[in-house]
Amino acid sequence: MRYISTRGQAPVLGFEDTMLTGLARDGGLYVPEDVPTMSHGDIAALAGLPYEEVAVRVMAPFVADAFDEATFAGLVAEAYAGFGHAARAPLVQLGPNHHLLELFHGPTLAFKDFAMQLIGRMFEHTLRKRGDRVTIVGATSGDTGSAAIEAFGGLDAVDVFILYPHGRVSEVQRRQMTTPSEANVHALAIDGHFDDAQARLKDMFNHFAFRDRVGLAGVNSINFARVLAQVVYYFTAAVALGAPYRPVSFTVPTGNFGDIFAGHIAKRMGLPIEALVVATNQNDILHRCLTTGEYRTGEVHPSISPSMDIQVSSNFERALHLAYGGDGSAIAQLMEELRGGGFTVSQGALEALRETYASGRVSEDETSATIRDCLARTGELLCPHSAVGVRVAQGHLGSTPMVTLATAHPAKFPDAVEAATGIRPPLPPRMADLFDRPERMTRVANDTNEIETLIEDKRTA
Ligand SMILES: *Cc1c(COP(=O)(O)O)cnc(C)c1O
Repeated sequence: MRYISTRGQAPVLGFEDTMLTGLARDGGLYVPEDVPTMSHGDIAALAGLPYEEVAVRVMAPFVADAFDEATFAGLVAEAYAGFGHAARAPLVQLGPNHHLLELFHGPTLAFKDFAMQLIGRMFEHTLRKRGDRVTIVGATSGDTGSAAIEAFGGLDAVDVFILYPHGRVSEVQRRQMTTPSEANVHALAIDGHFDDAQARLKDMFNHFAFRDRVGLAGVNSINFARVLAQVVYYFTAAVALGAPYRPVSFTVPTGNFGDIFAGHIAKRMGLPIEALVVATNQNDILHRCLTTGEYRTGEVHPSISPSMDIQVSSNFERALHLAYGGDGSAIAQLMEELRGGGFTVSQGALEALRETYASGRVSEDETSATIRDCLARTGELLCPHSAVGVRVAQGHLGSTPMVTLATAHPAKFPDAVEAATGIRPPLPPRMADLFDRPERMTRVANDTNEIETLIEDKRTA
């Protein structure tokens, strides 16, 4: 399979290099040149299969040039073996035609584990085969960092540096990043917001001398391998609810647009998805854009769903690329305008986006009220991000089954959950000692040079 940049000016790559490269050298994001499709029969045949088997069938055509099927099946099996639920991504019914897809049974209690556990193993396999090493640098609003540190800690061929916004992640998130003892992982607390961390990361990718010197690799959702691993649970959930014979809709708590874009790929592959509903918190640039066509960045307002406190939503570029019919120069032009504060989506592209996406926005009070109501009505304790999803989904319920993605475990955000319900959700027993372990982190300024110097000093290769 060939992967091309959304901005049309970077080399065309196979899966292996797409995975190891992260951001394209023209500043764009890699996408498959053509999305492979699954027939009605192929989709019907997924019913009742173990998660791992579905994962192999859905992802195989995307990764075929990098792994033979037996090797890939082995990596997939290892990736999900440590999850705390046999179904990996179980569905729970919340009400008539409304279901919750629990994506928080992985080792760090957020959906990021689905991709990170797999790409940790894919990186290791590929780098060993090539006799190569890389320096992974990631920006996180909390959950990507903990998932990456968990997945890559202790691997020989990688050093990992995770930038997170100082003071703006939950204590559980921070401790999951600062307490692992492996020498190859480093938590860097940056003075700024998530958008600053993400901007510094992009600077490093665009600084080619540094990039090549350290073998920079990225595991943010700019990496298509991340998005790919998330396509799988759209299939397992939809098939469990009757696909391909009936359509299903999804509501997705959204920040960087990676998770919901995975749903778009599933739809392009042939899964009958009626609507993909973008659910945002008060940082609602995506909802505003889908409503008005104006994509304008503003201030980030810290919320109780911090993993969605984002203004520049990287993966939206992939959706725009599809909406503009694959016109790389149009996308490059929009991204240039974004540097000046924003852009207007063309009428045709906006209509194309609205064929796939709907959207809604939830205030802080509504988020808390939804956590409280959902507990009272269903017994399900939601994390604040999942509550944003449930609230938006409630406005889109109809005759098509709706699946809301529960993106994190409530115990990852105990303060917000306790404030809403009076209940402090306990951590699962396997991580009960998180608050007793020593922490290790480095404070850094919001300054690309300083961060690069630190990385060059600390990496082991
Ligand atoms: C990362 C994250 C999100 C947002 O996902 P995107 O792919 O960035 O849209 C939502 N909820 C939680 C708990 C997350 O960790």
